[in-house]
Amino acid sequence: MLPCRGGAEIAHRFFEPLGWTVKATPISLDDAFPDWGDSRYVHLRLDGTVRLADALNQLYVLLPVLDESKHYWQGPDEVDKLLRSGEGWLTDHPDKDLIARRYLGRSGDLTRSALARLAELGDEVDDAVEPAADEEVEQPVEKRIPLNTQRHEAVHAVLLELEAKSVIDLGCGPGQFLARLVKTSAFTRIAGCDVSARSLQQAGRRLHVDRMSERQSDRIELFQGALTYEDPRFAGFDAAVLMEVVEHVDQPRLEALESVVFGEARPGAVVVTTPNSEYNALYEGLVGMRHPDHRFEWTRAEFAEWSDRVASTYGYSVDVRGIGERDQQLGTPTQMAVFTRG
Ligand code: SAH
Repeated sequence: MLPCRGGAEIAHRFFEPLGWTVKATPISLDDAFPDWGDSRYVHLRLDGTVRLADALNQLYVLLPVLDESKHYWQGPDEVDKLLRSGEGWLTDHPDKDLIARRYLGRSGDLTRSALARLAELGDEVDDAVEPAADEEVEQPVEKRIPLNTQRHEAVHAVLLELEAKSVIDLGCGPGQFLARLVKTSAFTRIAGCDVSARSLQQAGRRLHVDRMSERQSDRIELFQGALTYEDPRFAGFDAAVLMEVVEHVDQPRLEALESVVFGEARPGAVVVTTPNSEYNALYEGLVGMRHPDHRFEWTRAEFAEWSDRVASTYGYSVDVRGIGERDQQLGTPTQMAVFTRG
């Protein structure tokens, strides 16, 4: 059983040309609710007589390609790994371009280089390489400050402006922003929470929680939790940060998050950032949303409407701002709402 973006059909496309008999059965999201449709997982069975070394190389490349999971850990040696493991079967694969693109994730440069090198080994290059799609890698290389750094700076500045002493980063991911908070002595109590255990492990490593002095470890707390369920550990902070998190929550569950954060935890202030979908038009070649896990992306009007509704429902005032380079018509790449309890 494995995640397979693009449905069962893509497993047939990738494995059949290599001589496998493929049985790929989609797994429904929940048997009790057939209307919910299929999950992104399939049962995959491959039958065939293939040299073991080739079979292992094919799985090594194609399993992450099915999952499209390699987005987060690519280095320049990825192209070498792809060519090494693709030896003997990838150059002649009818979907070699798509495989290279999905294997190398969002890096257009790496994909171009892989396709050029594959071409040297055999066939012609497809010049229609999809450009990088993620906002972070999308920025032209020469641009000074990556968008996520600008975001961290902007939210950090707001927290100082609010004179928050205790801060909780809700959906902290691998802890980049926490690392910045830790360096600021004005924050005397810092917490990070995420639903992903793996992200929390990364955050723990980044912050060196294992080597912290007792005083430091009293100041910082990391815990696993879901923002759509009430949790007393979310309460008691001057400020909460929801940085690039709301768009990862299924829209029908967003109300639960609103009630947990604004209704139950009730920090003095909440800082929310989220993409401005209008700005996507400026990301050349971007099709769809900025990240495969985004459930939605809001226009400025949609975000303003959401912010106003949440503020008035839970007794906060809200101020909506932009982060990143502003386009006259389309606004800034990131939008930010600063909620304060009135
Ligand atoms: N705030 C970080 C990470 C953003 S990615 C940053 O700006 O870099 C979104 C994060 O939200 C992921 O780490 C994901 O695991 C987390 N997340 C998504 N849904 C969540 C939920 N319901 N409860 C808690 N965390 C959630």
